[in-house]
Amino acid sequence: MTDAVLRRGILAAGAAAAIPAPASAQGQGALAAFLAALASRRIEIIDLTQTLHPGTPVIQLPPPLANTEPFRMSEISRYDARGPAWYWNNFSCGEHTGTHFDAPIHWVTGRDLPDGATDTLPPARMIAPACVIDCSAQAAADERFVFEPRHILEWESRHGRIPAGSWVLMRTDWSKRSDPAAFLNMRADGPHVPGPSAAAVRLLVERDVNGWGVEAVGTDHGQAFSFEPPFPAHALLHGANKYGLASLTNLDRLPPTGAALITPPLKIRGGSGSPLRVLALVER
Ligand code: MN
Repeated sequence: MTDAVLRRGILAAGAAAAIPAPASAQGQGALAAFLAALASRRIEIIDLTQTLHPGTPVIQLPPPLANTEPFRMSEISRYDARGPAWYWNNFSCGEHTGTHFDAPIHWVTGRDLPDGATDTLPPARMIAPACVIDCSAQAAADERFVFEPRHILEWESRHGRIPAGSWVLMRTDWSKRSDPAAFLNMRADGPHVPGPSAAAVRLLVERDVNGWGVEAVGTDHGQAFSFEPPFPAHALLHGANKYGLASLTNLDRLPPTGAALITPPLKIRGGSGSPLRVLALVER
């Protein structure tokens, strides 16, 4: 090494030392504080996801409508002659299977949104606060419970106005129905499953929510085919570029306000939704 090269190296090291490290690298930034809170368990991570398996209930549409395929899994190899040191599977399912994300292009009202598919959604909307509205008592008393504007206004009278960009999650304890037939709750006149009225969905759009999440198989009421407009949680929310989350669980472990949801769907090109892992961060 020549003296000149050595001198340049020393000068470069000196210059680097003179530039202050970013605050986050020094452990003083917001992200460092967040990571420290995670490490010390002051922020708890709650899994709002149902386990995917071949028995995962999927929505059932009446003929002549086409239906989604269930979740399927087939083994490629398991430390055997097909692959002596490795285990892996193929799986297939519909985009709307198990705990899943509804993207705006899922509905005809959102079909032309340039950022409405799973691969065009803004990543900034994949982490957002959650407002949890407890309707478990009403859902237990009436399996056709309709979520109305008054339930939003009553919640807001206690917890403040729903902040723009928030998820609104309807807790019904429906996820505790482990029997698939009871979960889908199909009757002669269609599913008996709680969900929002069109007026409630309009108020959510007015609040400029990030999206609407439920514990049941879909975001709409079981009888929403007869609502005006039909399927308002899909028609009105997706038309307004809002998202949906279905088949959530553990909503009974969330506070009414203060949780943060992490909800990135799979980046399927032109996808209308996808199964996903939904995580809630809660401060303890
Ligand atoms: Mn869906």
